[in-house]
Amino acid sequence: MFIVVNGNKNSKEVIELMNWLKARNLSIQINEGTQKTVLGLIGDTSAVDIDSIASFKVVDTVKRIQEPYKKANRKFHPDDTVVDVGGKKIGGGNFQIIAGPCSVESEEQICMVAQSVAKSGAGLIRGGAFKPRTSPYAFQGLFGKGVDLLKEAREKSGLPIVTEIMSDEDIHLFEDVDLIQVGARNMQNFSLLKELGKLDKPVLIKRGLANTIEELLMSAEYVLAGGNDKVILCERGIRTFETSTRNTLDISAIPVIKKLSHLPVVVDPSHASGKADLVEPLALAAIAAGADGLMIEVHNDPIHALSDGAQSLTCEEFAALMPKLTALKSFMNTLK
Ligand code: PEP
Ligand code: MN
Repeated sequence: MFIVVNGNKNSKEVIELMNWLKARNLSIQINEGTQKTVLGLIGDTSAVDIDSIASFKVVDTVKRIQEPYKKANRKFHPDDTVVDVGGKKIGGGNFQIIAGPCSVESEEQICMVAQSVAKSGAGLIRGGAFKPRTSPYAFQGLFGKGVDLLKEAREKSGLPIVTEIMSDEDIHLFEDVDLIQVGARNMQNFSLLKELGKLDKPVLIKRGLANTIEELLMSAEYVLAGGNDKVILCERGIRTFETSTRNTLDISAIPVIKKLSHLPVVVDPSHASGKADLVEPLALAAIAAGADGLMIEVHNDPIHALSDGAQSLTCEEFAALMPKLTALKSFMNTLK
């Protein structure tokens, strides 16, 4: 981090700022110019609040050189992290497809979809039991019962289960869930992230609707800082001015995150597009861009789905898509 100050190193204000910095265990390298002085900070600046520094009147500019996340940073952890989810590995060359309905609706529905996607080659089954809906009148999920139905689907299909948590108060219901999802709307629910950091269980964090990559990595940092190193990130589209898709899939987020971080990156083409016919091209694009996995919504009867039917593939469409995804993934492996 460096700070440009309006004054020389002997001025009262600059000395006051330097004392504040030294109290935070930082060493200071001073470069004096004719009008301004540049203070280079040496030491761990990850816990230093940039706004607090900017609030000193003598400060002209303050800029970070080092990223504010440490544990998620590839600089300090060059090798890819591999997360084992109920025996299915994600990251470091291991690729998985998570498939299933937006919401768990009934025993018949979730078990049928789980068995079908397992047969097609999916590695994990997803389904929301706690649903973050824009309208309070829309289907909110089956809550604890939905989690129980997912466990039944796991029994029947052999697939590990993925489901979303919305509040740290529900954490006891997720003890037997293989991969806990933090949805886009909760990406910055810091008390939830802190609780998940105390677990020894994989967590998938979806990028918020209007969050930067750095903010996503800072959310991962919350979980990692708590001691839980089993973190997977998910790009699921961001809000832009474009209205022809539900969100805009940020394809560049995949190589950008993989450069900045060692954590696995999964892409969700369903929520990114909002349209079933766009899932295939976006899924293929994500594989080509280096994703470690995909999350795809699949429903046995999309027209009657209680949520996100328009973006859900039928089981048959998913079965037809799988060979294309695996073929592209195999081809990508030959380019390495
Ligand atoms: C979901 O995966 O069901 C979901 C609600 O996704 P997102 O948080 O990305 O909107
Ligand atoms: Mn959904």
